[in-house]
Amino acid sequence: APVQTTSEAPASAALLERASVVIPGGVNSPVRAFRAVGGTPRFMASGSGPWLTDADGKRYVDLICSWGPMILGHAHPDVLAAVTEAAARGFSFGTPSENEVRLAEEIVARVEPVEQVRLVNSGTEATMSAIRLARGFTGRDVVVKFAGCYHGHVDALLASAGSGIATFALPDSAGVPRSSAGETIVLPYNDLPALEAAFAERGHEIAAVITEAAAGNMGVVPPTPEFTDGLRRVTAEHGALLVSDEVMTGFRCSAAGYYGLETAADAGDRRRTTGAPDLFTFGKVMGGGFPTAAFGGRADVMALLAPQGPVYQAGTLSGNPVASAAGLATLQGCTPEVYARLDVVSHAIADAVASELSAASVPHRIQWAGSMFSVFFREGAVSGYDDAKDQDTAAFRRFFHAMLGQGVHLPPSAFESWFVSAAHDDAAVDHVIAALPAAARAAAAP
Ligand code: PMP
Repeated sequence: APVQTTSEAPASAALLERASVVIPGGVNSPVRAFRAVGGTPRFMASGSGPWLTDADGKRYVDLICSWGPMILGHAHPDVLAAVTEAAARGFSFGTPSENEVRLAEEIVARVEPVEQVRLVNSGTEATMSAIRLARGFTGRDVVVKFAGCYHGHVDALLASAGSGIATFALPDSAGVPRSSAGETIVLPYNDLPALEAAFAERGHEIAAVITEAAAGNMGVVPPTPEFTDGLRRVTAEHGALLVSDEVMTGFRCSAAGYYGLETAADAGDRRRTTGAPDLFTFGKVMGGGFPTAAFGGRADVMALLAPQGPVYQAGTLSGNPVASAAGLATLQGCTPEVYARLDVVSHAIADAVASELSAASVPHRIQWAGSMFSVFFREGAVSGYDDAKDQDTAAFRRFFHAMLGQGVHLPPSAFESWFVSAAHDDAAVDHVIAALPAAARAAAAP
């Protein structure tokens, strides 16, 4: 299948041209630009349930779901009603208001180890603030992160990051001070001996280890149970905090997040002995598509935040009443039936992807974290960033465009999770499945 170009999307192409005059690269977040896959990014005009409609009026089954937030589908009636009702009362007060209290209560009720949260406006702000808090609490400066994990565009956390950094094959970002990068230790994901070695050498300097609860920004790479246990044990032994970034996984992998999945089932006993992370970060689903996010955890750590403590953190729009209403309505809509539907939909799609790629003899590997999954165009398990990079991105690119041409919008990068919603009904799933044979053949044949 040829790369879908200007001729397939004239209105989007015209918008991109206008956008490129006034917005760098024509987009406000790099992966949207289709650089990794080529062709014209589609400018969306509307969304409803599992469907997006672009500026040319063409419809797509959405498998991005705003990179996670739209767990109930686009313009869900209950969320729309909550937003409309909140907006009619005013947009922002610069004072505390009840909706933010209700959203915070909902998060604290769902994630057992989280005693307090502070609301912010993006996942980036959440991780940035959690790191500052960990540094303030421990009086140490060094932060450990893992290659391929993305925690937003925080200076100290951009080294070997996933998501756009992976998509564009950048080692790091320009503009990050050497001093800031120098406070970061990057280790391979799922590599406990490397973590132990780093702590043996510099444990007394390390304020925090931050990790994606399950990696989703180099494609989906779940942690091994040994790695999860080791993270908690090693940080505790050295007096460093463990920050679990659940911006992507939170309230999506389970009613709580990936932590909820791990505490469920057979991991329960282990968790009781090893203990929970000290801090968590959240975003995406908890904002229901609006700019709101959070960080939280142990009350004795959170007590260090201003106005109670010396760690400063603030925001004009933090806890915004309309965004909080959207987040609350979304979380309240996340019933057991919703999670059951996410499982059915994600497995139906992933099974069909696997069988069509097999039929076309395209090497592939599908990995999971709850209902989040991604398709690596390679054979064999992916346990970290080096594995994830070792895939046939050209095959992905052909696959992507064949799907796009048939009205299925995948994430435009081989290094991203696919996201479904509970609004993905059988018609939407069937539409995706019907597109797969041709896409698999395109992936097979350059
Ligand atoms: N952490 C993780 C795990 C993420 O997936 C993301 C965004 N994809 C972020 C942090 C940053 O969130 P935001 O884009 O809202 O700043």
